Amino acid sequence: MISAKGYAAQTPTTSLAPFTFERRDPGPRDVAIQIKYCGVCHSDIHLTRNEWGGSGFPMVPGHEIIGRVTAVGSNVTKFKTGDRAGVGCMVDSCRTCPNCADGEEQYCSTGTTFTYNSPDIKNGGQTYGGYSNMIVVDEAFALRVSPKLDPASAAPLLCAGITTYSPLRHWNAGPGKTVGIVGLGGLGHMALQFARSFGAHVIQFTTSPSKKADALRLGAHEVVMVNDPNALAARKSSLDLIVDTVSAPHDLAGLLLTLRRDGSMVLVGVPPEAPQVPPGALIFGRRSLAGSLIGGIRETQEMLDYCAEHAIASQIETIPIQKINEAYDRVLKSDVKFRFVIDMATL
Ligand code: NAP
Ligand code: ZN
Ligand code: ZN
Repeated sequence: MISAKGYAAQTPTTSLAPFTFERRDPGPRDVAIQIKYCGVCHSDIHLTRNEWGGSGFPMVPGHEIIGRVTAVGSNVTKFKTGDRAGVGCMVDSCRTCPNCADGEEQYCSTGTTFTYNSPDIKNGGQTYGGYSNMIVVDEAFALRVSPKLDPASAAPLLCAGITTYSPLRHWNAGPGKTVGIVGLGGLGHMALQFARSFGAHVIQFTTSPSKKADALRLGAHEVVMVNDPNALAARKSSLDLIVDTVSAPHDLAGLLLTLRRDGSMVLVGVPPEAPQVPPGALIFGRRSLAGSLIGGIRETQEMLDYCAEHAIASQIETIPIQKINEAYDRVLKSDVKFRFVIDMATL
């Protein structure tokens, strides 16, 4: 076993603090990665505070990982020592069920092994994430990261990037489509850039007047204050697709009514409480309400390569690990433009 260090939450109500633990020795198909940067996702906050239920402690969060390969197993073909590598939200799956066979490992029918807070089949206990100095992962779940990408601003692509790229591709955001993005946070600012890059007409919905200029700079054609009923009413039945990234309870009905006939609203944000959905808002217009979970490994690689080719990255504020608890408080106040990334050299 390899001694590793990181930051962990010991209970849902304690601050994150230094923690030491063990990683497995790399097996034949494993790569060992020295972690350089890890993004701070709102899911890290939901999970460390047990807002969804089922959290296991101690918990080392973090699933937006960029680092350098320091060792490879004898059967590894995708990486060599010294390569840059990324790890996102998953580290394993069954690889044989129909969902895995389709490259949609996040929907593995026998249970995806998530990067943290999942049962660790190989080590026992539970998996530990990227707020740490190193990780050992099967090469099938490690991503190649182009040297064209800045490593710190590429880290959030591993969750915020793929979680928004995947539904925008699945629901065919592109030329001739009007796409709404709800919430301009870590996920939202990636969704906005992808939707614009894919050629859609993009409307950014926000509660923060202070983000209007940033939304326009990131590619929005229009910015709408989502709490203004008149502004929503003015866009009644005009959007093809909405991607909702909001992390807290909020009204869905007004947004659903902005969809045209057969339009879809895709939830990617996971507020801890269930939303109210008036059936009429779906029925009159044959509208759909859907959800989407991250994206498969093949599509994550496609997204990273797309970002390298089209110069798309996350807008980040880099922090030392010692500022992680303060960063969580600031995320909850929507006071970050637009993703915190931990510089793991400070650990
Ligand atoms: P974030 O950076 O905190 O962004 C959320 C944004 O939602 C905020 O910036 C804010 O945007 C808006 N918002 C917050 N509270 C609101 C409220 N009460 N009413 C209306 N809008 C509000 O969070 P994130 O990291 O992007 O994550 C967003 C959500 O996605 C979280 O619930 C997270 O767990 C979930 N998530 C899901 C997946 C998946 O696979 N489905 C993957 C990753 C994360 P404005 O200031 O513009 O209003
Ligand atoms: Zn995430
Ligand atoms: Zn499977």
